[in-house]
Amino acid sequence: MNSARRAVIVGGGPAGTVAALVLARRGVRAIVLEGRLGPSTKAGECLPPSVTLLLARLGLEQLLTQDGHLRSRGHRFVWGSPRPGERPFFAGVRGDGWHVDRRLFEARLAERAQAAGVDFRWGTRLDRCIREGERFHLELTDPGGARITETTDFVADATGRAASVARRLGVQRVRYDRLVGVAARLESPTPTTDTYTLVEATPDGWWYSALLADGALAVAFMTDADLMDRGLAHGEADAAREAFLRALREAPETRERIEGHGYRLATPPQPQRAETSRLTSVTGAGWLAVGDAAAAYDPLSSHGIGSAMGSGYYAGHAIADHLAHRPDALPTYVAVLQNAYGAYLDLQRQHYRTEHRFPGAPFWERRRMPLYCLDPIEARSSVTSTTLPPTLDPCLP
Ligand SMILES: Cc1cc2nc3c(=O)[nH]c(=O)nc-3n(C[C@H](O)[C@H](O)[C@H](O)COP(=O)(O)OP(=O)(O)OC[C@H]3O[C@@H](n4cnc5c(N)ncnc54)[C@H](O)[C@@H]3O)c2cc1C
Repeated sequence: MNSARRAVIVGGGPAGTVAALVLARRGVRAIVLEGRLGPSTKAGECLPPSVTLLLARLGLEQLLTQDGHLRSRGHRFVWGSPRPGERPFFAGVRGDGWHVDRRLFEARLAERAQAAGVDFRWGTRLDRCIREGERFHLELTDPGGARITETTDFVADATGRAASVARRLGVQRVRYDRLVGVAARLESPTPTTDTYTLVEATPDGWWYSALLADGALAVAFMTDADLMDRGLAHGEADAAREAFLRALREAPETRERIEGHGYRLATPPQPQRAETSRLTSVTGAGWLAVGDAAAAYDPLSSHGIGSAMGSGYYAGHAIADHLAHRPDALPTYVAVLQNAYGAYLDLQRQHYRTEHRFPGAPFWERRRMPLYCLDPIEARSSVTSTTLPPTLDPCLP
C-alpha cells in the first residue's frame, strides 16, 4: 500500500465504510473516524433486491446471507385507497429484498473494511475541521475522551444528514421537506411470519413496519417535524409511547399487524430526521461528501442504505483517482450523484401524488404543491430548477 496517498473519512456508516474499503483496495491508506463506540442499531432496515447487485460488485454478497438476515417477499401498501395492495418482489428480476439487523450489518461491513487494511477507529469523534492551506486540520475526541488532532490532504464527509465536515467548511444544506421518522422496535411472544414490508398512508403521514429475523417488528411513523405530536417531539418516554399509540389509531392495517400479534413497544419511539435534503456542493478542494451527507432520501424510496453504499463505491474511486492527479475524478463523481438524485426527486414527486385521499391535510397538500421536490424549501420563492434525466446505473438505485 502506498501510504503517501492517504484519506480520512469521517463517519463509519454504510457510505463511509464502503468508500474506505474501495480506497484500501485501490492502495490508498484510508482512516475511518466513527463517533460511536462500537456497532449499534439505527433506524432503517429494508433493502430492495437491487442492493444484491451492488454487494456483488463489491464482493460482499455474503453480508446478507451470513448472519441470518430476513428475506422479504415484497411490499404491501395502503396507499391511494383504503384497500391493501401488494407488490411482490418475484415480479422483479433480482429476487428477494432483505430486512437486516442494522447493528450486525454495519459491524460486518466495518470488519470487511478492516480486513482490507482500513484503519477503522470506533469512538473517535470529529469536533472541528479547519482548512490550513491545502491541508485539513481535524480536532478529534478519542474513545477515552482525550482531545487529539489529525492532519490530512483529503477528507470525506460521511457523517449522514448532519454533514458535519461540509457544514464546518461553510457549505449550505437545502431541504425539500421536513420529514421526520418516529421509529421504535416492538416485540411479541407470538410474532408474525409475514415478511412483507407494510406501508400505510394516514392523514398526518405514513407508517411502515418490517419483520426482523428475531421476530421483532421495526415500526416507524413518518410525518413532518412541525406536524408531530408534542408528546413525540419532546423526548419523554411515556409521553412518546402514548402519542405513538394514539397516532397508530389512524393506521388500521398497521395496528392490526401490531395488536393482532401481541406486539408491545420494546424501545421508546425516537424521532429522527428523514427529510429529502442535499448539500449545495458535494465536493471542493481536497474534500467530498458521500451518502446521506451528500444527498439524503425519503425512506419511502428504500434507497437510503443502497444509495449510501453506491455513492461510497463511487467516492472511493473518485478519491483514489483524484489523489492520482486525474482532474476529471471529482467532476465525474458530482455528475453521477446529480444524475441519481435528479431521478429520485422525479420519482418521489410522482409517488406522493398517487395518494389522492386526505384533502386539506397539510402533510399531503405540501406534497401536491407544484414545486414539491423540484425546488428546495429554501429557494421555492425565487429559483426555478430543471430536473435531471433518470439514471440507469445499478450502483445508485
Ligand atoms: C426512520 C428511518 C427509516 C429508514 N428506513 C430505511 C430503510 O428501510 N431502507 C433504507 O435503505 N434506508 C432507510 N433509512 C435511511 C438510511 O438509514 C440512511 O440512508 C443510511 O444510514 C445512510 O448511510 P450513511 O452512511 O450515509 O449515514 P449514517 O448511517 O447516518 O452514518 C453516518 C455515521 O457518521 C457518524 N458521525 C456523525 N457525525 C460524526 C462526527 N462528528 N464524528 C465522527 N463520526 C460521526 C455517525 O455516528 C454515523 O455512524 C431510514 C432512515 C430513517 C431516519
